[in-house]
Amino acid sequence: MSSLHRRDFLHIAGAGALAGCASPTPAAGPVAGDFDVVVCGGGTSGLPAALAAARRGARVAVVERYGFLGGNAAFSIMPCWHHLGDHHSGLLTDFARRVESFGVGPAPLRQGNHIEPEAVKILFLEMALERNVRLFLHHFIAGAVKEGGRVTGVVTESKSGRRTFAAKSFVDATGDGDLGFHAGARTAKGVDGQVQAMSLRFRVGYVDFDRFAEWAAGQKGFGLEGLVQAVRTGGGKEHGRAFYFGSRLDRIYDRFRDRYPDLPSGLTYFNCSSIRPHELSINTTRVYDLDGTSADDLTRGEIVTRKQAWAVWRFLRENIPGFERSVVVETAPQVGVRETRCFVGDRVLTVEDGAANRECADSVQTCRVTFDSHDKQKYETGGNKGLVDVPYGCFLPRGVEGLLAAGRCASADHLMNSTFRRMENSFQSGEVAGTAAALAALSGVTPRALPVRELQDELRRNGFKTCQRDRRG
Ligand SMILES: Cc1cc2nc3c(=O)[nH]c(=O)nc-3n(C[C@H](O)[C@H](O)[C@H](O)COP(=O)(O)OP(=O)(O)OC[C@H]3O[C@@H](n4cnc5c(N)ncnc54)[C@H](O)[C@@H]3O)c2cc1C
Repeated sequence: MSSLHRRDFLHIAGAGALAGCASPTPAAGPVAGDFDVVVCGGGTSGLPAALAAARRGARVAVVERYGFLGGNAAFSIMPCWHHLGDHHSGLLTDFARRVESFGVGPAPLRQGNHIEPEAVKILFLEMALERNVRLFLHHFIAGAVKEGGRVTGVVTESKSGRRTFAAKSFVDATGDGDLGFHAGARTAKGVDGQVQAMSLRFRVGYVDFDRFAEWAAGQKGFGLEGLVQAVRTGGGKEHGRAFYFGSRLDRIYDRFRDRYPDLPSGLTYFNCSSIRPHELSINTTRVYDLDGTSADDLTRGEIVTRKQAWAVWRFLRENIPGFERSVVVETAPQVGVRETRCFVGDRVLTVEDGAANRECADSVQTCRVTFDSHDKQKYETGGNKGLVDVPYGCFLPRGVEGLLAAGRCASADHLMNSTFRRMENSFQSGEVAGTAAALAALSGVTPRALPVRELQDELRRNGFKTCQRDRRG
């Protein structure tokens, strides 16, 4: 049986504790499995972490709260990946090619970086199964087991009751840093706790794009030129004609607020992707001042954004040509959370690093500097669009051993996080964290003690660009 079992749960934090405070509790439940690497969260960064660890020969499990893999790339029904053609390597390249040959939805390397969220769900599942990754879906992470300063188990709640999964190394790919939080790792949240807005995306079907574009062509000040152009060249009406347009159609909301009081207010926009014929995936709902690690705030966020989504659709159907026969096809199963906890790592990737496109000898990944920060006072976009090297220390949360961070909870300041959190960066960070977790577990050291050179060599052997210098060749 597992070493964890024998040690009789020396320190268990989180499960059963009061909201917000990690504290010891008496029982962690039976040990359901003992692995080299446990990846917490099977989302954008979690799946590549698991694949990378399994590729290195580790026995790997993924613990995920939902019944499917894909995380925000799937459940925020959000198809916009970025720079897949020029800023990708390793497993991300494999994934993009796999999407192309899967043949459902746009071909991301040729058609504007869009990936069908349903393809994400099934392809992530297939890739995990191919690599013999053990899946524990419907398991909610509720605590950590520690021995001294080291995480030795993750505690879950599920239909099967409370369970513990033991491992030599853990990857926290929960987006919110849930395992690290329970284990007492150092975290930060936004700027003085102010984080980016949450948004619930939704899909609207049976849109008559010709009528919509004809109307849009006569409008000024809404930035609908991209839509008009895309529809005129065939967008939105056939398979394989995916397009994106960012617009300010939201500027019209105030004129209609009397009739639709739940229309989004405050800083927002009306940005859409069309990846299926006659359909739009809409990003316009918005709620500020809520914390995605508070169940009460999440409840509030669901109430506000669901009402907004239906108000937007009613407004469109009753006032905008082309939407007369439209229907709400789907709202995302949960409000999308952009920012919560970031670990404070041995290194924190800063906006100054990004501005300088800094390079460093201990780099294990590159990240594009393209800010995407939905703050209450200002929507910050831009950046220099070059790359920045990401040092290994950004993956190592302070205050705990045995743990690596991946995805949007990796260590970066507020503005750098707004670019690091994007899917192509999150995905690649998973490959780094999973590789490091496996190397550490298999050589019997903690991730912090792993020589960065060993990690870089292993990543490069697998076609991964670990730094800007690698990219220059
Ligand atoms: C509305 C919205 C629009 C966005 N638009 C874009 C865009 O256009 N382009 C772009 O590149 N990025 C966009 N992003 C950001 C991007 O999607 C995410 O930052 C990225 O997917 C994060 O990856 P991750 O692996 O860190 O987290 P996720 O992909 O969210 O994965 C986390 C996984 O952990 C699981 N999990 C969480 N907590 C627990 C727990 N306690 N127990 C068990 N499992 C748990 C989750 O279910 C999930 O599967 C957007 C985000 C939002 C919210």
